Amino acid sequence: MSNELTTWMSAHRLDLIGQWADLISEPARAPMLGDSSGDEGLIATLGVTAVSADQLYDMLVLAAGGDYGALNERIHTISHSDDIRDQALNERLSRAFTFRRTLRTLLRNQVSDPTSALGMIDQFDVLFEHMIGILADGWAAHNAAALREREFIAESLNAASAAADQRTLQLKALNDISQHLSASLDRSQLLDLVATNLHRLTDVASIAVWMPPPDGADLLVAAYACGEGADLTLGGKISLAQTKDLTVRAFCSGRIQFEITPDATQQGTWYRDGCGVMALPMLLHEQSIGVVTLQDPNPVQQLRFQQDLAQGVISQAAIAIQNANLYTEVRSLNVELEQRVAERTRELQDEKNRLATINEISTEVSSTLDLDSLLSTSLAVLANISQAEHASIMLVEQDDSSLLVTRAVYGVPASPGNYIRFPIGSGIAGWVAQQRKGTLVDDISTDERWVSIPGGSLRKRQGSMIAVPLLMQGDVLGVITISHREPGFFQEGHMRMLNACAGPIAIGINNANLFQMISAEAERRYELLDRQQTEASQIEAILQNLSDGVIVCDLYGSVLMANQAASDVLGRSVEDLLLWNLHDIISRYLGPRSPDIPLAELIARPLDVNDQRRIFTSIAKVGTRVASMTMGPVLKEDGQLLGALLVVRDITREIEADRLKTEFIGTMSHELRTPMTAIKGFTQLLAMGGLGPLNDTQREFVSTIHANTERMIALINDVLDITKIESGSVDIEWRSLHMAEALSGVMSELQPAIAARSHDLSISIPPGLPLVRADAHRLHQILFNLLSNAVKYTPKGGKIWVEAHEATVADLPDHVRASMTPNKRYAQMNIRDTGVGIDREDMLRIFDRFYRTENPLKIEAGGTGLGLSLVKPLVELLGGRIWVESTLGVGSSFSFVLPAS
Ligand code: ADP
Repeated sequence: MSNELTTWMSAHRLDLIGQWADLISEPARAPMLGDSSGDEGLIATLGVTAVSADQLYDMLVLAAGGDYGALNERIHTISHSDDIRDQALNERLSRAFTFRRTLRTLLRNQVSDPTSALGMIDQFDVLFEHMIGILADGWAAHNAAALREREFIAESLNAASAAADQRTLQLKALNDISQHLSASLDRSQLLDLVATNLHRLTDVASIAVWMPPPDGADLLVAAYACGEGADLTLGGKISLAQTKDLTVRAFCSGRIQFEITPDATQQGTWYRDGCGVMALPMLLHEQSIGVVTLQDPNPVQQLRFQQDLAQGVISQAAIAIQNANLYTEVRSLNVELEQRVAERTRELQDEKNRLATINEISTEVSSTLDLDSLLSTSLAVLANISQAEHASIMLVEQDDSSLLVTRAVYGVPASPGNYIRFPIGSGIAGWVAQQRKGTLVDDISTDERWVSIPGGSLRKRQGSMIAVPLLMQGDVLGVITISHREPGFFQEGHMRMLNACAGPIAIGINNANLFQMISAEAERRYELLDRQQTEASQIEAILQNLSDGVIVCDLYGSVLMANQAASDVLGRSVEDLLLWNLHDIISRYLGPRSPDIPLAELIARPLDVNDQRRIFTSIAKVGTRVASMTMGPVLKEDGQLLGALLVVRDITREIEADRLKTEFIGTMSHELRTPMTAIKGFTQLLAMGGLGPLNDTQREFVSTIHANTERMIALINDVLDITKIESGSVDIEWRSLHMAEALSGVMSELQPAIAARSHDLSISIPPGLPLVRADAHRLHQILFNLLSNAVKYTPKGGKIWVEAHEATVADLPDHVRASMTPNKRYAQMNIRDTGVGIDREDMLRIFDRFYRTENPLKIEAGGTGLGLSLVKPLVELLGGRIWVESTLGVGSSFSFVLPAS
């Protein structure tokens, strides 16, 4: 329905729309006045539905026309969405009155007709009051609900703060309990505290604390109870097998058990009919250590609501109990520790005593090397410290290590009866020596090892005893025993101490024995030295008084000793000789004959092939005098070479006597040869019948005279030759000769004899054999003698070899080579036969004058024993050497070498 106002309003839409939209806009997005001037796009939202400013203005125009529907709804909506807490209503009212003022001003200014303007103002005022009314009603209705809500919140807050207060109280109570709990470390006191405080705080009908018994049986025992029926419950037991029992269930599961109406038949006697039950396990490291049961007829109020508190108290209790347990443990540990400390202190004291004893004994032991005083002192110290009544030390007998002999006693008289001896293995001490370990005998009377010694009257079989071995590097030196008449007197500590002391005593005994041994050895050595010195001075005196000169040198030829006789013979002072070397002495006195005494050779090889000392001799001219020199090795008993010994002797007189003798024999032989030659001539004349025919007997006699005369002449010739050699007056006519030539002369002479004895002769002389430098007559003599011997000493029909070849020194036998000049050429001749042979001993003597061996052909062969004694010096005179090899009954081989020319 349109009227004047609606028309006017529609006409003035643009003037009023902004303020209007502002007036009834939504509270969240209330547009500011003036912002929207002329803005078509201004949008106000209500819920999800967007309402434009035009639409809002249309509502006003409709209301002005009497249609309030849309406007009412709009105002209702915004009054509900306004917040009761801010100034929303005031703002709206202020905006409403501002709008009315604007409209009235506009009306007054725009409508020229005052009546019409007033009419429209009145009309609008009706609309305005209606609108204010609705706004106020809507706002009042909306805000009443909000107020109620706020009241409810306030109430809830009050209830919450009351609950918080209660919680604070509970916490305080908990704090108090925990302070109480932490103040005590006594378990039973703790449990009591838990039960009584819980009862006080929760005011439940009855409370019980259940713990497993200390013996670990499968039970729970009511250790504490409070409230109704406490007396009946206290001390009550529940078997862990009763798995339906809430206490047991809580204990085994470790979870809180809460039942408002438990089945009374399944519970133990602790259960009070009609009560709800809460069973709370006491947990330590998720392990139940007990259970607290709370019972009350009003389970929800009294139990469920107190659960947290009860739980808090119980966990505090569990910790306190653990602390109490730990404390108990620590206490018992402490007690144990104290006991141990006391024990250890005692042990250390014992150890100290033991060490003091050992030290005392060690000091004693090291202060003496006298065995008896060492033994008796250590025994006394040991006995004193161990409070033994008797003690003894037995040592292993030196001469017989199977026996133990008492060497020291304590507490009994040192009479012979107490110095016993018995075999190792017998008696307690013998057992200890054999087993090498100590023994503690509490009661000797019951020990089977004990032996009674006849005569050992003081040895009583009673009391206790300790015996320990004295060991040194695993060897038993003896046994120490201590004894007391009281059985069981000695303890392990005594044994330990005795064992510890045995070491130093054994060392002392060993030292004393060693000292004794060393002293004895030193004495023996001193005696030996004394004897050696005496012997040395005796030998020195003997040497100095010897008529033969003696010079001793070391392995290098340095002269170590020379006696006065050596100085006299050699015409030099002893001091001079001591400064020289034996090599110098030999070359100085022997000159070209020095090789006769080869010192270096002797030092290199002091023994010959037969292990005999090699001896070298020579003759030296010392001015007008002659001295013999003999050198041999100085060997120790064990064969070790120390040096060489040269013996010099003045043989001037012997040489002179020899010369005179040789001269005499020479003269005599000459004198004998003249008549012999006459006898030989006359017998030849007689034999030829120059003085008339001879009968057979006469011829035989004459022939014998002739033969003997021939032998005599040969003998005299040999003697003459020997004297010539000895007097050095042999004339030698040196020529280069061939062995074959010399041999042929000999062969022609011996051919008849070889033929007569039917010998098989074999001669071998190689074509290139060097010539020898020799004297023809003497070489003939040598070959003749050797070959005639082979013929004579070989049985008829035997075999003879004559062989020659060239030889060098290296080819010669050792004993020959030693005296030969090396690098020289030689011709060697061997005369071998299958004759009677010569035994070993004879071989050394066949070159001696007149020596003939015993052999089957000795008589048949005849001879004088001078042939070889002539041959040897002749060979050597020609610069050669001769030697023989022979086997008795098999044959002989005579060999000689002569230097090649
Ligand atoms: P004899 O005039 O006795 O032959 P020799 O001086 O020539 O004197 O020899 C000395 C001794 O040597 C002989 O008596 C003989 O016993 C022994 N003898 C020498 N040559 C041989 C030989 N070829 N076989 C065995 N014995 C020998």
